[in-house]
Amino acid sequence: MDLTDFSLVARTESADQTKQVAAALADQLQPDDAILFTGDLGAGKTQFVQGVAAQLGVADAVTSPTFNILISYQGGRLPLHHFDLYRLEDPDELDDIAFFETVEGGGASFVEWSEKFPDHMPEDALHVDMGVVLERPDSRVIRAFAEGTRAEQLLAAWTAAL
Ligand code: ADP
Ligand code: MG
Repeated sequence: MDLTDFSLVARTESADQTKQVAAALADQLQPDDAILFTGDLGAGKTQFVQGVAAQLGVADAVTSPTFNILISYQGGRLPLHHFDLYRLEDPDELDDIAFFETVEGGGASFVEWSEKFPDHMPEDALHVDMGVVLERPDSRVIRAFAEGTRAEQLLAAWTAAL
């Protein structure tokens, strides 16, 4: 994908900065919003979700859902669903974890490893790609683009809030 396909590009220099960028998005979230992450292990996706959770007012510590596949957090401004699809092998398993019912169930959903099943993800979604910067261990590049009308609204609101 060409860089010009991304509508938002932000560079952060620490995990805390990534959480601040995420907090700005958290303030714009509405029920049923879907955020689809791409990016390697260690890119900062879980740190990003931690920033969202803190800003939503989730009291629980957010840990990586790699082994649980889905962890949901109540008690914030809206329910937060944190998926990690890394360990799924077949898209049919999305039904087993009630993926679509959960995503459409009134909360905000963040999906790590969405690139595993690109043809089975929500159509209206904000795509967030995270990448490391060579030779700079604490730098990350966050790139986002919207697919669908709600995701476009969300991206615009997020961009304005940064
Ligand atoms: P992922 O979920 O993408 O596999 P994690 O969020 O679990 O990645 O881990 C990212 C790691 O990189 C953490 O140890 C975090 O402290 C570190 N890190 C260093 N710089 C940054 C940054 N700018 N943004 C996010 N994380 C960073
Ligand atoms: Mg992770």
